Amino acid sequence: MREKRYVQEGIGSSYLFRVDHDTIIDATKCGNLARFINHCCTPNCYAKVITIEAQKKIVIYSKQPIGVNEEITYDYKFPIEDTKIPCLCRTESCRGTLN
Ligand SMILES: [Zn+2]
Repeated sequence: MREKRYVQEGIGSSYLFRVDHDTIIDATKCGNLARFINHCCTPNCYAKVITIEAQKKIVIYSKQPIGVNEEITYDYKFPIEDTKIPCLCRTESCRGTLN
């Protein structure tokens, strides 16, 4: 419902992160800088959901050393949908779409 409402309100970017079947964290209107991490088909990080004191948290782990000024990316792992979102990562192994 929120995703549709944001589209209607003209909010073009999605900052929704599915934690599990029943939970989605919405960083559209508030959240830390991690909400601006872009997708990449060959990312240098990965996202993992961990539980701390009964609260689920999204943690971004690096997969490799990351240089100063190197962009931090992870694979959004969006579900496959009919309406495709083009991927702009420009890596050799780009899948072409996020979903
Ligand atoms: Zn890509």
